[in-house]
Amino acid sequence: MFLEDTIKHSKKGGWIEVICGSMFSGKTEELIRRLRRAEFARLRVEIFKPKIDVRYSEEHVVSHDENSISSTAVDSAQNILLLSGDVDVVGIDEAQFFDNGLVEVCNTLANSGLRVIVAGLDMDFRGKPFGPIPSLLAIAEYVTKVHAICVRCGSLANHSHRTSEDEKLVVLGETNIYEPLCRKCYQDDLSAEKKRKR
Ligand code: ZN
Repeated sequence: MFLEDTIKHSKKGGWIEVICGSMFSGKTEELIRRLRRAEFARLRVEIFKPKIDVRYSEEHVVSHDENSISSTAVDSAQNILLLSGDVDVVGIDEAQFFDNGLVEVCNTLANSGLRVIVAGLDMDFRGKPFGPIPSLLAIAEYVTKVHAICVRCGSLANHSHRTSEDEKLVVLGETNIYEPLCRKCYQDDLSAEKKRKR
C-alpha cells in the first residue's frame, strides 16, 4: 500500500503520483483514499475530472463502491491550471480522457510545489496505451499499478475487455459492457473472435 510517510521530499517540492490499471481495479478508490488522508492532514485538496465522464454525477468523483468525493468537471487540461490556485494537493480522475496537454499541466503543478495524484486507465479495450497515461507514467515520481480479478479464471486482470462489438474508443455510461480479463483469457478471447470472423 502507498504510504505518504515513505515520501522523503523537501517540504516545498511537489511531485506526481500515478495510479493506473484496468477497469474495476480500484483506481478511483485508491485516489479517494489518498485524497481523504490529505484532507485529514488539513491540506487543501481539489479534484478534477474530464467533462466527458458524466456517468454518475456532475459534481462527484464516484467510484464503483459509491465512495465519493466532490470534484470539478473541466473541458481541457489547461483549465486545471486555472482552477488550482490556492491548493496543496490536486487529484485528477479518469485522466486517460484528457488531451496530452495534461502532461505539461501536471509538471507545471508539481514544479510549483503541489502534490499531483493522477488516476486513469493504462490501456484501452484494445490493449493499447491510453491517451496521456504512458507519458504521465514516465514523468511521475511514484507509479502504482492496481489490478482487477479476471472474471474467467480468477487471476489478476490487466485488460478491460469490451463485450460489445462497438468499435468506438469511448462508450459513455456503459461500464456494464466491460469485463476484467487476465492476459491469457484476453488472448484466448481474441483468437476465438478472429476465428468467428473468418
Ligand atoms: Zn483469466
